[in-house]
This record gives sequence, C-alpha cells and structure tokens, in this order.
Amino acid sequence: MTWGIYWMFYHCPDCGKKFKSGADMITEPTFGRCPVCNAEGVLIGESKEGYPADAEDYEDTAEY
Ligand SMILES: [Zn+2]
Repeated sequence: MTWGIYWMFYHCPDCGKKFKSGADMITEPTFGRCPVCNAEGVLIGESKEGYPADAEDYEDTAEY
C-alpha cells in the first residue's frame, strides 16, 4: 500500500468549512487556509494520524 498524497485535514473556525491540503503544497501561501474565507484552519488530522472518518467531505484546496 502506498500513501499517495499526504493529506492535512483542516476545519475553518470562521465558516465551518472542511478542507484538506496535500503536504506537497506546504510551500504555498494558501496552505492550511480556508478556500472560502482565507482564515487559518484548525488542524483536525492528517494521513498518518487522525485520518477523519468523513475524509471525503473535506474539499481539496488544490482545486482552487
Ligand atoms: Zn472559512
């Protein structure tokens, strides 16, 4: 099994948006920021630890 993209899962404290950022995007200024309101997200979990059961509800910020 391979991990593929290493995801970081975030929850926006302002609008409640669930989103995820691939660790390959960590150098981007938008990394870990809400795609809706640009607030700094609260880290919920990541691929290795705390992988959320509802992971598919988290939007990939790389699509923006
Ligand atoms: Zn937000």
